[in-house]
Amino acid sequence: MLLVRKLDFLLSEILKYKSLGRKINFIPTMGSLHQGHISLIKKAKKGKQICIVSIFVNPLQFNDPLDFKNYPRSKKIDRSLLMKEDVDLLFVPDKNFISGDNLPYSLGDISKILCGKDRHGHFEGVAKVIIKFLSLINPDFIYLGEKDFQQTVVIKKIIKDFNFKAKVKVISTVRDENRVALSSRNKLLKKNKYLACLIPRTLAKIIEEIENGDFKLSRINEFKKIIKKKGIDKVNYLEIRKESDLQKLGPEFCVCRVFISVSICNVRLIDNMRVKKKIKLNKEKKLEISS
Ligand code: AMP
Repeated sequence: MLLVRKLDFLLSEILKYKSLGRKINFIPTMGSLHQGHISLIKKAKKGKQICIVSIFVNPLQFNDPLDFKNYPRSKKIDRSLLMKEDVDLLFVPDKNFISGDNLPYSLGDISKILCGKDRHGHFEGVAKVIIKFLSLINPDFIYLGEKDFQQTVVIKKIIKDFNFKAKVKVISTVRDENRVALSSRNKLLKKNKYLACLIPRTLAKIIEEIENGDFKLSRINEFKKIIKKKGIDKVNYLEIRKESDLQKLGPEFCVCRVFISVSICNVRLIDNMRVKKKIKLNKEKKLEISS
């Protein structure tokens, strides 16, 4: 595995791969790798394509400097995990990789809902680094996790708006034995770790109730109360939205997901799950399921 820090070295390696006619698969990460990241890498390693992983804890996507400072980092372990997976190139840019200027492009509504609402400027920060990565690497495929579903929608939009050639592969969320989505931030949970189980349980319960019928939208507020009562400090959001554009439910049947973000002792966790059947919202604010 080649460890690359400098842009000119990265560009010359990319040129080499391209001159050999090799396809490039790219996996952007913030490091502190776990089996969720590894599942993306394993998928990207199938076939004879080049696999490039980046590790960059992007300061622009943290609205809270303390959150950025506390974000888990494990450089040495990451490197040995990536070597074990036979990754071709690990790109670790330095902290000056992106400047703090505003993004000269509007992501629109998509950056202002869900994670964009309580983490102001988060997706603009994501967009800046992704645009830079895509411009430099111009990969054939970019591998992203379903766990950060809103991020996949934002990156698909960027690819379309800027005509990048990369195709997006969205990989299923890897969960632990309690169905908690693996996340680098899980390492920050100490004795309150057990509370994280409430996240997948809540999503699964909401989906079960929706699929059983007779689900009023206002029921979501009851779920928020229940999980707070069980000990979760803050529910940042709990919402049902359309999968395609993350807009709210309307009168037409569509594929939807339930999205959640909670904070446990200041550790912010997110997750989402798909509702298997198409649903719509009727005039009485009740969810109807397609047959
Ligand atoms: P991060 O390092 O958190 O920025 O994540 C890098 C990539 O790994 C993103 O595309 C994430 O969606 C993906 N990822 C993170 N956690 C998981 C997981 N539990 N299962 C699958 N993919 C994940």
